Amino acid sequence: MAEAVKRLYPKAKLGIGPAISDGFYYDFDIDEPIKPEDLAKIEQEMKKIVKENSEFARQEIPKKEAKSLFTKLGEKYKLELIEGLKGVSVSVYRHGNFVDLCKGPHVARTGDVKVFKLLSVAGAYWRGIETNPMLQRIYGTAFENKPELDKFLKIIEEAKKRDHRILGKKLDLFSFNAEMGAGLVLYHPKGAILRTIIEDYIKREHIKRGYQPVISPHILKSDIWVQSGHYEYYKENMYIFKIENKEFAVKPMNCPGHILVYKSHKRSYRDLPFRLFELGSVYRHEKSGVLHGLLRVRGFTQDDAHIFCLKEQIEEEVVGIIDFVKETLKVFGFDKYTVELSTRPKESIGADEEWKEATEALKNTLKNKKIPFEINEGEGAFYGPKIDIKLKDALGREWQCATIQCDFALPERFKLKYTSKDGKEEKPIMLHRVILGSMERFLGALIEHYAGNFPLWLAPVQVAVIPITSKQNDYAENLTRLMAEKDMRAITDTRDEKMQKKIRERELEKIPYLAIVGEREAKDDKVSLRSKSKGNIGEMPVEKFLSIIEEEIKNKKT
Ligand code: ZN
Repeated sequence: MAEAVKRLYPKAKLGIGPAISDGFYYDFDIDEPIKPEDLAKIEQEMKKIVKENSEFARQEIPKKEAKSLFTKLGEKYKLELIEGLKGVSVSVYRHGNFVDLCKGPHVARTGDVKVFKLLSVAGAYWRGIETNPMLQRIYGTAFENKPELDKFLKIIEEAKKRDHRILGKKLDLFSFNAEMGAGLVLYHPKGAILRTIIEDYIKREHIKRGYQPVISPHILKSDIWVQSGHYEYYKENMYIFKIENKEFAVKPMNCPGHILVYKSHKRSYRDLPFRLFELGSVYRHEKSGVLHGLLRVRGFTQDDAHIFCLKEQIEEEVVGIIDFVKETLKVFGFDKYTVELSTRPKESIGADEEWKEATEALKNTLKNKKIPFEINEGEGAFYGPKIDIKLKDALGREWQCATIQCDFALPERFKLKYTSKDGKEEKPIMLHRVILGSMERFLGALIEHYAGNFPLWLAPVQVAVIPITSKQNDYAENLTRLMAEKDMRAITDTRDEKMQKKIRERELEKIPYLAIVGEREAKDDKVSLRSKSKGNIGEMPVEKFLSIIEEEIKNKKT
């Protein structure tokens, strides 16, 4: 694609062009805007290049030589990339007359490229930084054969309809506000209700499983972050400020607060495992270029817990967490997920031996539970290895939710202790874990999974009561009050509009049930029930109607 673009727009400058999970993209600096209709032209040129079937040749060249090569080509962004690469040499790939800085690997020849399609074009700041030039990013995908591509395109089509950013606006759940700041979510009443229902549920489940809720402050003095290692390894993502000459940071993670709760008392082996839970709101600076709806934000709330335990309790605790994740996902309508194990990254704290031990503990637990997993080398947290669980939504797309991290390092840094059976002072292990992950991201997944058609127990408005004429307004409002007393979320639509119009509009709002009341219903203490999924259910006494709704909410039917 990069060569095709260069052939059509000789003045184009190349940015970066990585493979991503669903295909690839490439960033170009081009004077004229590339319009969606230009993509077909670029595709045509790509087909020609495939037909030419030229060979890809890899070449390892000294940095100095690479610099003079890309200076000659006028590729200023490549020069910047070379500057940032470690080592004395870099690799370039050539085919035909085209050369690019690339670490590879590549297919052998351009003819090996089979079915591909360019999907879209979007603006992207160079390196995702707002003050850098805005480049044009072309997205594309490639498959082995046409049926696979067609299947993928169909999913994209469906995904567009379910996009949580669009549905979030349409259903009035949340918004973003440029004046307030990018990447910060403003929950509207319906979104806030939805989130509260999820939070209430998850909080109760934690308490049931022996976790103790705590609440820690949103800002902590920098000294704490120095001690935890965040200051050294995570500073770029933190909001740091000074007041009265003391430096503070807004918490990017909840761990230190929980550690301080642990440290507030002398602990014995009998106190372990000690499980602390918090719906903790954290703030992390993300580059503006990577922000994406609810999926990548700068402020989010985690269902975060830290378990302080003995080494020999790790496995049992991890098993408990995995079961917790499985049960929770099922309640929310997700029954498929994948598991990954991430190992020690380059930038990290702690002794090799402890990393090995922690990684083995996680690996053995997965093996013993017969859970298939993949290994992500070097993708662990800076303080320990982790298990990531990604849920699969209705379209088969993966969403990061739960993580379980095993940590020997923070207990060491904070000098955590417990008294062992034989009276000695020992260091506990710390497990960091989330179940849903970020409430924001989980909400995004939930919206797209259900395409906004939430099951009754989650629906922000469960029932709309629609009087046929204004004569039934009082009866309708009484019914709504009755439901409110039973913790049901109902509204009365007393607008001076035709009944058909009210029904249509409330169904577009994806309200699961409509209770229509006319003269006859009001006289006999009845409603005519209409379900969004099943259509007209018919007339029934109010008592029966209420018990149908109550039952469905209680069962959390998905
Ligand atoms: Zn933590």
